[in-house]
Amino acid sequence: MKLLSAIVPCYNEEENVRDFYEEFRKNDAFFQEKGIAYEILYVDDGSTDATCAIVEELHNKDERVKLLSFTRNFGKEAAIFAGLQHAKGDYVATMDADLQDPPSLLPEMFSFIETGEYDSVATRRVNRKGEPPVRSFFARRFYHLINKMSRTEIVDGARDFRLMTRRFVDSVLEIGEYNRFSKGIFSWVGYKTKWLEFANVERKKGETKWSFWKLFVYAIDGIIAFSTTPLAIASFIGVLFCVLAFIFIIVIIVRAAIFGDPTSGWPSLVCIILLVSGVQLFCLGILGQYLSKTYLEVKKRPVYLLKDRVE
Ligand code: UDP
Ligand code: MG
Repeated sequence: MKLLSAIVPCYNEEENVRDFYEEFRKNDAFFQEKGIAYEILYVDDGSTDATCAIVEELHNKDERVKLLSFTRNFGKEAAIFAGLQHAKGDYVATMDADLQDPPSLLPEMFSFIETGEYDSVATRRVNRKGEPPVRSFFARRFYHLINKMSRTEIVDGARDFRLMTRRFVDSVLEIGEYNRFSKGIFSWVGYKTKWLEFANVERKKGETKWSFWKLFVYAIDGIIAFSTTPLAIASFIGVLFCVLAFIFIIVIIVRAAIFGDPTSGWPSLVCIILLVSGVQLFCLGILGQYLSKTYLEVKKRPVYLLKDRVE
């Protein structure tokens, strides 16, 4: 009998974990027919509410429900990583607890894996219904930008909802980096991926855990993790300014030789100094981003720490 593991990262999802379980169980008949057993692996990302207690309660009734509990909030990426490390399944699915990744899609996803042609079935939402327009706008710009900058394809609207084969998961686990950007990592490992599209589902209960600022930082992290183009841009700006400076020098020398040298350059000088120092700081900032990521990588701190494990 083959085993399917569903990884569900949870951060203060007390209102959703039970609903998720109920919803997931609606696929029972399908899994039974296919001869597949499953485990639901909730990864508690340092919740401060009753999430853990409810999962333990579910576990006491149904042994297929399992729990990994972090010592504090390490972020969704860490939760997905922990889940992948502990999942025992021949097939592994990652899905959100808030039912925005509908478990009812699993049978269709499985039908593609079953053919043996694909090693991962990924999902993308075709619209962003119910999301604040500002957030949608910046999300679109982000995907446009990162795809221009990175050779790894990052699909617009891609969710972290994915069904993978064991060898795909093992490949993902070989990437031991600290700054994890799953959307990029899943694409980077290769294999053949089938994309399924679905209309956006709004969060059932509770609040989104991603503020605009948190998403912005996540976007920058994604770009830094999958592209070195910003560094190239910094060098390019440097060269551009040197060329401009040379042209100005020649113009000024020629002008002074022909018309003399009236000293009236104070305002323009201030503007130039401000501009150039601004550009320098900007480029230094880009450099700093890469340096800080390197610093975090070399420290080799664990991606997460486990407090509790219920199996
Ligand atoms: N999540 C997590 N750790 C965090 C933030 C979120 O494990 O620090 C989980 C959250 O519980 C949910 C999933 O990641 O299951 C997606 O989060 P959310 O629904 O808040 O994000 P959105 O769907 O709004 O992008
Ligand atoms: Mg959500």
